Amino acid sequence: MLPGRHGAGVFDELQLQALPCESEWDGSIAYLDRDGVLNTGSPDYINDVGELKVMTGVPEAVGALRRAGFRVCVVTNQSPIGRGLWTDKRLATIHDELEAQLLQADVDAVLDLILYSPHVPWAGSPFRKPEPGMLMAARQLLESSGSIDGFDIEAEFNEARSAMVGDRRSDLRAGKNHGVRVFHAPEQIGLPAVVNRVLDADDEGDDIMSAPV
Ligand SMILES: [Mg+2]
Repeated sequence: MLPGRHGAGVFDELQLQALPCESEWDGSIAYLDRDGVLNTGSPDYINDVGELKVMTGVPEAVGALRRAGFRVCVVTNQSPIGRGLWTDKRLATIHDELEAQLLQADVDAVLDLILYSPHVPWAGSPFRKPEPGMLMAARQLLESSGSIDGFDIEAEFNEARSAMVGDRRSDLRAGKNHGVRVFHAPEQIGLPAVVNRVLDADDEGDDIMSAPV
């Protein structure tokens, strides 16, 4: 059981684009849920590229994170794949469009990595939020140079400035389980509501219970 990765095999070498800032990457990662954080969420999933609506100010918020030295990684549960409703290929068209819309509005709004969990909730996957496996996997991919053989989900890490942003309690649990600050993105506003807090290393983040189930 492994996460899916947009545009590549999950263990393939990750070619990172340079960060739009002066300093070297310090290991900080902004882990972002997708629906309700970047684009408007839906209780019935985002099933088609036509249903993707990037929320106001999101491209600039993603750009601001990278200009401040964060790598940006989307971690999204996509159980429709495991339920047999649609395929990885359908999801890839949605993620291509998401990347295009972000870049069109802000040239720095690069998504360094998109991981998704295709697993159904009852499969017990360590790579489905609220489990922290996707965040662990992302960390190892972002740190690696070259392809890797597998994920060590017990690996040690130092991500003092990292953060997980999500609209649901399961997102915040995943972040807490991974050991990073967590921020609740409110409905209909998403990432722009909390991006300045994420950028403030002294902000300790939100409580898990601040987000709806
Ligand atoms: Mg969400």
